[in-house]
Amino acid sequence: MVVSAHSADFVWRAGGGIALYASRGWQVTVVCLSFGERGESAKLWREPGMTLERVKSARQQEALRAAEILGAQTVFLDAGDYPMRLGQDALDKLVQIYRDLQPAFILTHSLHDPYNFDHPLAAHFAQEARIVAQAHGHDPGGRILGAPPVFLFEPHQPEQCEWKPQLLLDITPVWEKKYAAFTVMAAQEHLWEYYERVALQRGAQGARNPNRKMKYGEAYQRVFPQVTEVLE
Ligand SMILES: [Zn+2]
Repeated sequence: MVVSAHSADFVWRAGGGIALYASRGWQVTVVCLSFGERGESAKLWREPGMTLERVKSARQQEALRAAEILGAQTVFLDAGDYPMRLGQDALDKLVQIYRDLQPAFILTHSLHDPYNFDHPLAAHFAQEARIVAQAHGHDPGGRILGAPPVFLFEPHQPEQCEWKPQLLLDITPVWEKKYAAFTVMAAQEHLWEYYERVALQRGAQGARNPNRKMKYGEAYQRVFPQVTEVLE
């Protein structure tokens, strides 16, 4: 399961992970907290006569097409962006989604980002909802959430966000799908090449670390320690 602040974030930052798991037969759900209608739709806003509703609708259609290419289902909370303000209603919805889906892992944003206030807020919110969903006393009687690991996907400028790559996922087998999802995001064409470079860079680092043959990678930071019986 992916918690995405804006409707396109999941494509750039986790599209490979989504497509990889979908290709293995997993059900992947992307929760888009907003459509990125105010803060990440500059190209649409330059069109004459544009309205908030038209931008939201266009970004929703793009996100649906991108998710379809990647093999994910989407849930839109329409919580607004720039500024994003997430209240009790949104929290209750996300808690219920966690409890209904019982995700095996959660992907979301970095905990810090001086360039973007919605992204760390979404990460905080994803984690708060996870913990509330684990609480026996919250809306008692239902099935509580276990303890799915949380992975933070790569922010736009990782060095400024106190974010470090701790897991390099080989997304080479699904790169074509990730790039196809990029091209659906017509409003953010300036990012296609940028995120191809990021994937190549992480791929090169992934190939160097375990001496693995891979071309495209996607990096994540862990929130919780990896629990294992082997040192590998
Ligand atoms: Zn965003």
